[in-house]
Amino acid sequence: MSAPKIVILGAGYGGLMTAIELQRQMSYNEAEVVLVNKHDYHYMTTHLHEPAAGTTTDDKVRIDLKDLLDFDRITFVHQTVAGFDLDTRSVQLADGSVLDYDYLVVALGSEPETFGIEGLREHAFSIRSLNAVRVIREHIEYMFSRYHENPDNPAFTTIVVGGAGFTGIEFVTELAERLPALCRTFDIPREKVRLISVEAAPSVMPGFDPKLVAYTMERLKEMGVEVYTNTPIQSCTKDGITLADGTHIPSYSVIWTGGVRGNRIVEASGLETVRGRVKVDAYLRAPGYDNVFVVGDSSVIFNKEGRPYPPTAQLATQQGKACAYNLLSLIRNQPMKPFEPHLLGTLASLGRWEGIGIVGKMKLYGFWASVMKRLSDMRYLWQIGGVSIVLRKGRFL
Ligand code: FAD
Ligand code: NAD
Repeated sequence: MSAPKIVILGAGYGGLMTAIELQRQMSYNEAEVVLVNKHDYHYMTTHLHEPAAGTTTDDKVRIDLKDLLDFDRITFVHQTVAGFDLDTRSVQLADGSVLDYDYLVVALGSEPETFGIEGLREHAFSIRSLNAVRVIREHIEYMFSRYHENPDNPAFTTIVVGGAGFTGIEFVTELAERLPALCRTFDIPREKVRLISVEAAPSVMPGFDPKLVAYTMERLKEMGVEVYTNTPIQSCTKDGITLADGTHIPSYSVIWTGGVRGNRIVEASGLETVRGRVKVDAYLRAPGYDNVFVVGDSSVIFNKEGRPYPPTAQLATQQGKACAYNLLSLIRNQPMKPFEPHLLGTLASLGRWEGIGIVGKMKLYGFWASVMKRLSDMRYLWQIGGVSIVLRKGRFL
C-alpha cells in the first residue's frame, strides 16, 4: 500500500510548523508530504511593519524554505493555490495543475477586511505580504520625492494609517521613527509631514490593558503622531480619506490596518466560515471532514467563555505542532489529542527599542518589552531552524 499523501496549503506560521514537525517526527516513507506556497520563502508576518516603514530590509524577515525544510522528505510546490475541492479531495493550482490528497492542511492565512468601506480596496495599501509592504515603502518614498513639485499640496506628505489595532500601532510608530531620516533625505521640513492614526473605537488598541494603552498614547504624542479616536473612516479615494463626520484628509498614502478576515479561498471551498475562518473541532479539523485540518488565521477557536481567540502567530505555530501530531496519530491509528492553546502573552513594538506587553501577569513597558519581543522572535527562529537561523535572522541590535 502506498504512503498516505498529506498536502499542506501555505507556508506561514501554521503551515510551516506543520511541515517542520512532520519532517521531524515521521519515519521514512510513513507519509508523502507536499507543501504548496506562492513564494519559495517563509516571511515573518509579525515583522512586516518594519520593511513597510523602511526600517528593516526585506532580507531580515524572509527565510528561504530550502533552509528550513529537507526537500527530499517534503515535496515543495512553488505555486499559488486557486481552490480546493473537498468532494474530489483535490487542490487546484493557478497553473492549471491539480494535486490530490488523502489529508489536507489548510493554512492560507488571512487577508485585509475592508468592511465594504467605499474605495479602500482600490486606493489603500495594506500590510499583508512582503511584496505588498515593499510597495508601501517605495510609494511613501516616491510621494516624498514629489513634494517639491508643489510644497503647498499636503497630500504628498500626509500618511494616514486607518485602524489602530496592533498592526496599525506597530506600523505607525515604526514609521514615526524613520520620519526624521526621510525628511533629511527628501529635503522636507518635518512640520510639513503629517502622520495620522485613525481609529473607530474610543481608544487605540481597543480592549487592551488601559495602562499599556495610556503608555502607547504618550509614546505616539512624543513621536508627533496625530491620533483620532472615535473616528471611523467612511471612504477613501486616490486623494485621501473622508471621516464619518465628513472631514476630508488629503493624502496620497493611506495604509489600511483596520482588521483581517480569513483567506477567501477557504470560504469558496464550501467550508462553513465566520469572516472567512473555519470553526474547527477540538482536533483542528473542519466540521464534517475528518481528513481536513485548518490552522492559523484560516481557523477560529473559542475560549471557555465562548469568545474567539484573536488570530496570532503564537496560536498558529502551536496549532501547526498540534496538527502534525494529530495527522501522525491518524496515520498510525493512535488517539489524537485535543488542541489546548498555551498563550504566553502579548508583546508589541512601538519602534525599534520601545514596546509594550503582558507576559503572564507581568506588564512590560519600553526597552524591556522590546527586549522580550526580540527574545520571543529568537525562540521562534530557534524552533523553525535552530541556531543557524537564529544567527542569520535574529535581531540582536
Ligand atoms: P500567514 O503567516 O499569513 O501565512 C499564510 C501563508 O500562505 C503565506 O506564506 C502566504 O504566502 C501563503 N498563501 C496565501 N495565499 C496563498 C495561495 N493562494 N496560494 C499559495 N500560498 C498562499 N502575531 C503574534 O502572535 N505576534 C506578533 O507580534 C504579531 N505581529 C504582527 C504584526 C503584523 C504587522 C501583522 C500583519 C500581524 C502580526 N501578527 C502577530 C499576526 C500573525 O502574523 C498572524 O496571526 C500569523 O501570520 C498567522 O499565521 P498563518 O500561518 O495563519 O498565516
Ligand atoms: P485588529 O482587528 O486587531 O484591529 C483593527 C482596528 O481597526 C480596530 O481597532 C478597529 O476598531 C479599527 N477599525 C475598524 N474599522 C475602522 C474604520 N472604519 N475606521 C477606523 N478604524 C477602524 O486588526 P490588526 O491590528 O490587523 O490585527 C490582526 C490580528 O493580528 C489580531 O489578532 C492581532 O492581535 C494580531 N496582531 C498581533 C500583534 C502583536 O501581538 N504584536 C501585532 C499585529 C497584529
